[in-house]
Amino acid sequence: MQTHNTTVEEIQKKVRMHSGLLHFSSKASSNTLRNRPKDGIDLSKLTNILEIGQEWAYVEPGVTFANLCTETLKQGLLPPVVPEFMTITVGGAVMGAALESSSHRFGQFSDTCLEYEVILGNGEVVQASPDNNADLFYGLSGSYGTLGVLSSIKLRLIKAEKYIQISSQKLSNKDLIDFLTQPQEADFVEGIALNRESGVALIGKMTAEPKSPLFRQNRYWSSWYIQQVIENPNFNFCMTTKEYLFRLDRGAFWMGQYTLSIPTMLRLLLHIGIPKLSMQALYPKSIFRLLFGWMLSSGRLYKIWHRVPKKISENLFFVHDFYAPVAKAHEVFTHFIEQTEIFPIWLCPVKGTSSPQIFAPHFGNERFLNIGVYGMPKSSLSTPELSAKLENEITLFGGRKMLYSYTYYDRENFSKIYDETHYDALRQKFFAEKAFPHIYNKIVMC
Ligand SMILES: Cc1cc2nc3c(=O)[nH]c(=O)nc-3n(C[C@H](O)[C@H](O)[C@H](O)COP(=O)(O)OP(=O)(O)OC[C@H]3O[C@@H](n4cnc5c(N)ncnc54)[C@H](O)[C@@H]3O)c2cc1C
Repeated sequence: MQTHNTTVEEIQKKVRMHSGLLHFSSKASSNTLRNRPKDGIDLSKLTNILEIGQEWAYVEPGVTFANLCTETLKQGLLPPVVPEFMTITVGGAVMGAALESSSHRFGQFSDTCLEYEVILGNGEVVQASPDNNADLFYGLSGSYGTLGVLSSIKLRLIKAEKYIQISSQKLSNKDLIDFLTQPQEADFVEGIALNRESGVALIGKMTAEPKSPLFRQNRYWSSWYIQQVIENPNFNFCMTTKEYLFRLDRGAFWMGQYTLSIPTMLRLLLHIGIPKLSMQALYPKSIFRLLFGWMLSSGRLYKIWHRVPKKISENLFFVHDFYAPVAKAHEVFTHFIEQTEIFPIWLCPVKGTSSPQIFAPHFGNERFLNIGVYGMPKSSLSTPELSAKLENEITLFGGRKMLYSYTYYDRENFSKIYDETHYDALRQKFFAEKAFPHIYNKIVMC
């Protein structure tokens, strides 16, 4: 605690002394696609787990979920929502409104947080929880560091078992979406649409003993999860809990497969997206994994990504998560696959929230289906044009997109989607106006 307090005091001093708008210096493996400034307030000392109790953990924001889960699992405990990339941090998950396959039960990660410690724009430290500074507590979710510096988080923990038993079932896309939009009891629920016609529903349950063959991902050349799903679409298998939680890290879903492809190389060299030079993600053969698997964890891929200038990277891939209200999920899915022709597509049901998390994509008193579209689109539009078109179209369906990706809203549209009156009042009340950039400037202009 002493070290934590000293680090917080150092940051407080820097915030007080700083003139102009504050940024946070870049973490090489940031899971947010935009490149961040190299200089800025250094949060890299805030990486400690402060305490783990029976029902909660108290951590600094830079703790990665991989480290947190390693420690909590020793005590048979887990955060209720664990984003799937090993380098996502607890603070990043609050600021970026993270979700995962338990979100049908628990909502987004921020819904499982109990209390935040926040350094405000005037250097003051405050606590925020549902009972204390509740407006700040909820406002921070999805605010991308534009309301204050998060310096610690108290989050809920739940009981965990050693293994996750997964049953997978191949379904038509229509049945798959019907299934995913119904309330489900299982611990983990997700779907992967493999092509225009069909996909796989994956249902996970915690178990003390494996009841099916164990699928391991403990070597860099191990099969990727997507490969297991494609090759065994009607199969029950089991994973250790930690390997399940980070099952999509290896290859960053399936994006790692694009790394050495000819279309990627040409797009990189020519600096443009060429529709004819598109490819579908292929699942990686063992020789590919043996040769290149070591560089295909999500953390390494992000380090490479953040070295590519924006004008090139924004044309390389289409990477977006769109939240569709369940009532519109079929329509959104059909429309988006016609527009992008990208497969596979990750589908994840999420419980909505009525608490004022004004920037969170699950804001709204209903359930959503997250449609994760990652790949090279086949479209006559450039990738930025297509992104701009679809980010506007999702709002016509009553949904939103996650803001970690490249974002192209014009000012007027942005104000229609997000309650800026509420946001501006928060910025004024908590001294953020002169200290931190406005969210629009941070996510759209960067
Ligand atoms: C291909 C792809 C797929 C993705 N899929 C998913 C998914 O399935 N589920 C999911 O949940 N997410 C997904 N994400 C997004 C990811 O969860 C978010 O981008 C998340 O915010 C990243 O966490 P991070 O620790 O890397 O945060 P960073 O990128 O380091 O930071 C995120 C933002 O928070 C701010 N910030 C960080 N720390 C602090 C702090 N202490 N105080 C104030 N502000 C701070 C940063 O300035 C930045 O604006 C995906 C991203 C990609 C690229």
